[in-house]
Amino acid sequence: MNQNIRNFCIIAHIDHGKSTLADRLLELTGTVEKRKMREQYLDSMDLERERGITIKLQPVRMEYEFKGVKYILNLIDTPGHVDFSYEVSRSLAAVEGAILLVDATKGVQAQTLSSLYLAREQKLEIIPAINKIDLPGARVAEVEKEIRGILKEDKKIYHISAKEGLGVEELIGAVINQISAPKKEEEKPLRALIFDSVYDSYKGVLAYARIMEGRIKAGEKIFLISSKAQAETIEVGIFKPDLMPVSALSAGEIGYIATGFKDVSLCRVGDTITHFFSQAKEGLAGYKEPKPMVFASFYPAEDADYDHLKDSLSKLKLNDSSLISEPESSEALGRGFRCGFLGMLHLEIVSERLRREYNLDLVVTTPSVVYKIIEKSGLEKTIYSPQELPDLSKIQEIKEPWMNLEIVCPNVYLGQIMKLLQSSDGIYKTTEYLGEERVIVKYEAPLREIIVDFYDRLKSITSGYASMSYDLVGWRKGELVKLDILAAGDEVAALSRIVPRHKVLGEGRSMVEKLKKILPHQLFAVALQAAIGGKIIARETIPAMRKDVTGYLYGGDYSRKKKLLEKQKKGKKKMKAIGKLKIPQKAFLEILKK
Ligand code: GDP
Ligand code: MG
Repeated sequence: MNQNIRNFCIIAHIDHGKSTLADRLLELTGTVEKRKMREQYLDSMDLERERGITIKLQPVRMEYEFKGVKYILNLIDTPGHVDFSYEVSRSLAAVEGAILLVDATKGVQAQTLSSLYLAREQKLEIIPAINKIDLPGARVAEVEKEIRGILKEDKKIYHISAKEGLGVEELIGAVINQISAPKKEEEKPLRALIFDSVYDSYKGVLAYARIMEGRIKAGEKIFLISSKAQAETIEVGIFKPDLMPVSALSAGEIGYIATGFKDVSLCRVGDTITHFFSQAKEGLAGYKEPKPMVFASFYPAEDADYDHLKDSLSKLKLNDSSLISEPESSEALGRGFRCGFLGMLHLEIVSERLRREYNLDLVVTTPSVVYKIIEKSGLEKTIYSPQELPDLSKIQEIKEPWMNLEIVCPNVYLGQIMKLLQSSDGIYKTTEYLGEERVIVKYEAPLREIIVDFYDRLKSITSGYASMSYDLVGWRKGELVKLDILAAGDEVAALSRIVPRHKVLGEGRSMVEKLKKILPHQLFAVALQAAIGGKIIARETIPAMRKDVTGYLYGGDYSRKKKLLEKQKKGKKKMKAIGKLKIPQKAFLEILKK
């Protein structure tokens, strides 16, 4: 039966139509009943549906008859945003082929390229397809040229409309004909690659796995080669896309294994599951470990919510193995957690999920990248926030992460992009033409410059036409200093930042100017100062003011007055009192924006 299995995923830049194509496949194969069908069916999280983006990868098993033969098609829908490329790399390790989807109106974009590179690394069969050919703005011929340019091989490029279902049947035919069936390795000892895991309150951690070799049944004792954890399998099953138990999973199949683990860290993505009694000797080659590069701390707005935050974070981690967190406490903010993220969108999604799904009111501190410090004593350490930076006199060298940036855009914007990168300490590498009017520009730049609003600025200078992806090049020495903010003479640790020496004056000035605008007026005048190593480099004053917000509601409408006062009280709750200052939540992010 192996001969009739095809495992594949759809890769594309965000919004090029992956989830919509998945919808058509679900329909055509009758996997989801018509009356239950809704758009982007596989995006099941509220947040995904609202924002129209895929955050979690999602596997589904379909059955399809082609030329009189029944096939099993295992599809993994993947997210497109650069922060989630880790999810993409995991999906790719579990399949033999990929449909590379390109929007006919937008053409090849940055994540088209980055996911193509990942697929090539895994030696996947690639089926290129141009989507949205139904749109009047479709530039099919040009986009076809662009795709040929990046594929560098001559291949049929399919033309489809995922929305209208045009060409989708032909595409399934290509999946069946071109992607090879998984190898038949049922006789070997069990080896199953975990590519995702979710927590189920009844069955414990469910390992989403690709069975590479052997066979697994419910009730069998299993062993995880890298975590060395053991368990008795509670259930095995497939994704229809709802979970459906089956009696066994064999080599070539994709399914879930219910482990009963209460702790997801025993069942890490990339680990290999084997049988406890007839163990495979070696684990499968894992894939890229996620490396969180952006750190920020989460504090509950109400100190009493600490346990709730702790609990919620560990629940979120069950479904997001790239999220890391550690308890931390600060004099000003109380008890909280320092968390690591793959990028800013990841941070935003996690804090949003905590707010929504766990009803938590949070203070998120100013995000910072990871730095490596080499002290004069030879001691090397990694720091996750500016507060951890040792005294400058002790430091030999500070290293910071540098990224490879790949920007795809129309060539008319090249000038603006170069200016933006210059101001972001970028180093120009190359420009390559993609078709006639679009280019791929490569740069190297420090991560600190691109984590906050770099992408927004890139979008705005290119009228939305540029797309970008990035990955780590390595650690490089930086001329960096700690910029402190003082309010009424006291240092506000939560507002400190690490900045390059040549930008410190400008940054200091702009920080205090922004804070003056953002911070609410206090009962007394407050001096705001920016300083490095105790030396003041900029100063602003927030004037004293107290406005009775109910003042203009003269007369006796007491209930309106009460409402307003309550609203005001609520607004206060969202602020953290830091020393003599009350700092609204948004301040921590706003001060970073250019
Ligand atoms: P994903 O981010 O790659 O998963 O993209 P989605 O499937 O969420 O699609 C992004 C947007 O493009 C949605 O608004 C879809 O309705 C739309 N879309 C997808 N495929 C087509 C198509 O073939 N034609 C048209 N006109 N719109 C499409
Ligand atoms: Mg999607």
